[in-house]
Amino acid sequence: MYDAIVIGAGPAGLQAALTLGRMHRSTLLLDSGEYRNGTVLHMHNVIAADGTPPAEFRATAREQLAAYADVEVREVAAERIAGAIDDFTVLLADGTEVAARRVVLATGVADDLPAVPGLGELWGIRAFSCPFCDGHEHAGKPIAILGEAARTEHLVSLLGRIVGAITVYPVGAPFGEEDRRMLEERGARVSPVPVSEVAGEGAEVRVTAGDESASVAGVFVASVALRQRAPLATELGLRMLPSGAIEIDDFGATSAPGILAAGDLAHRAALPGPMASVLLAAAAGQLAAVGVIRSL
Ligand SMILES: Cc1cc2nc3c(=O)[nH]c(=O)nc-3n(C[C@H](O)[C@H](O)[C@H](O)COP(=O)(O)OP(=O)(O)OC[C@H]3O[C@@H](n4cnc5c(N)ncnc54)[C@H](O)[C@@H]3O)c2cc1C
Repeated sequence: MYDAIVIGAGPAGLQAALTLGRMHRSTLLLDSGEYRNGTVLHMHNVIAADGTPPAEFRATAREQLAAYADVEVREVAAERIAGAIDDFTVLLADGTEVAARRVVLATGVADDLPAVPGLGELWGIRAFSCPFCDGHEHAGKPIAILGEAARTEHLVSLLGRIVGAITVYPVGAPFGEEDRRMLEERGARVSPVPVSEVAGEGAEVRVTAGDESASVAGVFVASVALRQRAPLATELGLRMLPSGAIEIDDFGATSAPGILAAGDLAHRAALPGPMASVLLAAAAGQLAAVGVIRSL
C-alpha cells in the first residue's frame, strides 16, 4: 500500500512525486509517455529553463527523483481506479494492480486541432497556440493565425505587439464582414478564403488558402479544443467545470475524497480555464502533494 499513486509524469506529476518523496511518503509515479508538449523542441517562459527541450527537463527531473528512496517510477498506463479513500486500487495496463491511500491525477490534456491538412505535422514545431510560450520567438516576423473570428481576436491582440505582419485565416467558412473589419482594425490582414493547407518549408510555413499561398515564420492556432488525456476523471464521476477540466480546491482536492488532481487537467472554479504552463503545472503538483500530506 503506497501512501500515494501519482498518475502522470509531466511537470505536475514529477513535482508532486518530488514533494512527496522529500516528505518520505511512499509514492508510485506512473507514466504512459504521452506528454502535451511531446513534439516541442524548446520550451519557454520557464525561469532557469527558458529554451530547454522539454525532453531534457523531464530527464533531469527523473534523475533527481531517483535520489529519493520513497519514489518508485513505472512506465505504464493506469487503466482504472477502484476503491475509496485510504484503500484505492489502480489497475495498470500490464495487468497488475497497485494500492494506495491517496491518488493524484496528473494525466494532462490533449489538443484537438482543427482539421487543416498538414497542421498535425507542424504542431509544437512551427504551429502553436500559446503566445506566452512561443510569441517572442516570432518577434518582428510574419505569422498566420488560424481559427474562428472571436478566438483569433484574442491572439491578434496579444501577438500584435510582438510579431511582424499578421494574416488571419478562417477555418472552415469565411468570416462575415463585421468580423473581418474588427480584425483589420486591430492591424491584421484577413484572408477572404479559409485556409486549405499548411506545410513546412525549411524554417518557414507555407499557408495555402484556395488559389493563394504565402510564406510565414509560424502559425498560431486559435481554435484548439482541449480534452482530458485519460478517461479516469469521467469514470470516477468527478465534478467537472465548463472548461472540461476537473474542479479542484486550493490544495488539488477533487469532489471525490482521497483523489487529487494537478496540472492542465484541473483548475479552481474561480479561473476561466487551466492556466496551462510548465511552471504552473509544477506548482499545482506541489500543492496537490501538500494536499495529500495534509490529508494523510
Ligand atoms: C505546442 C505546445 C507548446 C507548449 N509550450 C510551452 C512552453 O513553451 N512553456 C510552457 O510553460 N508551457 C508550454 N506548453 C504547455 C505545457 O506543455 C503544459 O502546460 C504542461 O505540459 C502541463 O503539464 P501536465 O503535467 O499537466 O501534463 P503533461 O505534461 O501533458 O503530462 C501528462 C502526463 O500524464 C501521463 N498520462 C496520461 N494518461 C495516463 C495514464 N492513463 N496512465 C499513466 N500516465 C498517463 C502522460 O504520459 C504524461 O506523463 C505547451 C503546450 C503545447 C501544446
